[in-house]
Amino acid sequence: MSSSPYPTYLQRCGWATDSDAATSCKPLQGEQHCDAIVIGAGYTGLAIARRLAEQRPDYAIAVLEADYVGAGSPGRNSGFVLETVLSAPSKACAKKIYPLYQQAHQQLMQHSHLPTEVKQEAVFKAAATSRGEKALKQLSYFMQATGQPWHTLDAARLKQITGSDYYRSGISLPGNRLVNPAQLVSGIARHLPNSITIYEKSPALGLEQHHSSWKVRTSAGVLRAPRVFLANNAFAKGLGFGQSRSVTIFTYAGITAPLSEEARINTSSQGQWGILPAHRLGTTFRSTEDGRLLVRGMYGYEQEGGAEVKDILQRSLSKRFPALGGAQQLEQWWGGTTSLTANGAPLWGELKPGLFSSVGCNGVGIVKGWLLGGALADLSLGQSTLDVPELFGRPSWMPPEPLRQLGFMAVSSLEKKLAGGEQ
Ligand SMILES: Cc1cc2nc3c(=O)[nH]c(=O)nc-3n(C[C@H](O)[C@H](O)[C@H](O)COP(=O)(O)OP(=O)(O)OC[C@H]3O[C@@H](n4cnc5c(N)ncnc54)[C@H](O)[C@@H]3O)c2cc1C
Repeated sequence: MSSSPYPTYLQRCGWATDSDAATSCKPLQGEQHCDAIVIGAGYTGLAIARRLAEQRPDYAIAVLEADYVGAGSPGRNSGFVLETVLSAPSKACAKKIYPLYQQAHQQLMQHSHLPTEVKQEAVFKAAATSRGEKALKQLSYFMQATGQPWHTLDAARLKQITGSDYYRSGISLPGNRLVNPAQLVSGIARHLPNSITIYEKSPALGLEQHHSSWKVRTSAGVLRAPRVFLANNAFAKGLGFGQSRSVTIFTYAGITAPLSEEARINTSSQGQWGILPAHRLGTTFRSTEDGRLLVRGMYGYEQEGGAEVKDILQRSLSKRFPALGGAQQLEQWWGGTTSLTANGAPLWGELKPGLFSSVGCNGVGIVKGWLLGGALADLSLGQSTLDVPELFGRPSWMPPEPLRQLGFMAVSSLEKKLAGGEQ
C-alpha cells in the first residue's frame, strides 16, 4: 500500500509538453522562517497562498511543491473546469454551492491569465446504455431542482458535435470550460503576489510541532512557521493525516497526436467538446484546442497501473471513433492521483492548533479545490467563511487494511458491471 508522503509517477504527462507550462522555481535549501507554509502547489494550495497574501500582505508565505508545478495531478487531469454541482449532501446544499462554484471558476480563470472570452459550453454528460439514460434522467431532475442550467441532446446532435455515434442521449451542462490543466495551474502559479515563494522539487517529508511553531522538513531544507496548510490531497496521509478517512486512487488519461484536417472536420467541426460519462466508473472524452482526442478512465487502488492501462484506454477510444482508424492511436498516456473519502466529503479545517487541511478532492477538484482553499485561508485568519462541513459534509471513517481494500475491490467490481458500455 502506498504511504509515500509525495507522488512519483511512472509516465510523463502529455499536457506538460506545452512550453507555456513552466515556472522554474528553485528547491528549498537550508533553514528558513516564514508566516505560513502551504504543502502542495495545486488548485487548493495556490488558492490558500493567494488568499492569505491578499488578506495579510505582510505575511511571508512559502509553498512547497514535490515536483514542478503542473507535473503532478493539477496538470495531469482532463481539464474540465466544472462549475456545475453534480453531487452534494442534499439539494439544498447543491443550490448554495452552485453560485460559489461559479464565482470560484471566474476567479480561477482570472488569476491564471488564460484567455477567458470564449466560455466553452460543449461540455455534457452522455449515455451509451439504457442504465446510463436512466442516470441522466435522475441528473436532469437534480439540475432542475437545484436551479442549474441544462438541456437535453439527442444522438444526432451528439454525433454532430463529436463525430461519434456511440451515444444515445446526453445532457448539456452550460457554463463549464475545457482547458489545458498544466497551463491553468502554472498560469496561476506565475501570477501570484510577490510575498509568496514557491519551492519546486521540494517535497515535505515530515512535520513536527514545537510549542507554537511548526517545522516542515524537505530533503535539503527546513521551514518553520506558526501555521501550516496541508493541500497535498492524496498524500496528506503519507505525512500522517487522514489515514482513517481517505484512500489514494489512480486514474488515467491518454491523448492522440493532433488529428488530420479531415479527421478534425469529422470530430470537432463545432469546436472543442467534452463528454462526462453517465456512470461514475465510465470513461471521459474530450477534444483539445490543438485537435487531439483525450480519453480518461479506469481506477487503481493505491498503486499506479502498468501497460495494460493503455490498451484499455485505447479500446474505449477506438469503440467511439472507429472511423478514425490509425489516427485514434494514443500517442501518450499517464496516471494521476485523486484522494477519495467514503462519502465524498473533504477533510477540511483545523486539525491541530496551527495545522490546517483541505484534502480529499474525490475526483473533481479544480473549482472545488480553489473554493475550499480560499475558505481555509479565511478560517485560519479567524474570518467568517463558508461552513464547509455543513455544505460538503465530513469524511466518514474507513475500516483499516486489508478490509478497506477488499471493500474497495468489491464495490468497484460491482460498479464496473453496472457501468457496462459507459466504460
Ligand atoms: C487523470 C485525471 C483526470 C482528472 N480530470 C479532472 C477534471 O477534468 N476536472 C476536475 O475538476 N478534476 C479532475 N481530476 C481531479 C483533479 O486533478 C483534482 O481534483 C485536483 O487536481 C485537486 O487539486 P488539489 O490542489 O486539491 O490537489 P492536487 O491536484 O492533487 O495537488 C496536490 C499537489 O501537492 C503536491 N504534493 C503532494 N505531496 C506533497 C508533499 N509531500 N510536499 C509537497 N508537495 C506535495 C503534488 O505534487 C501536487 O502538485 C482528474 C484527476 C486525474 C488524475
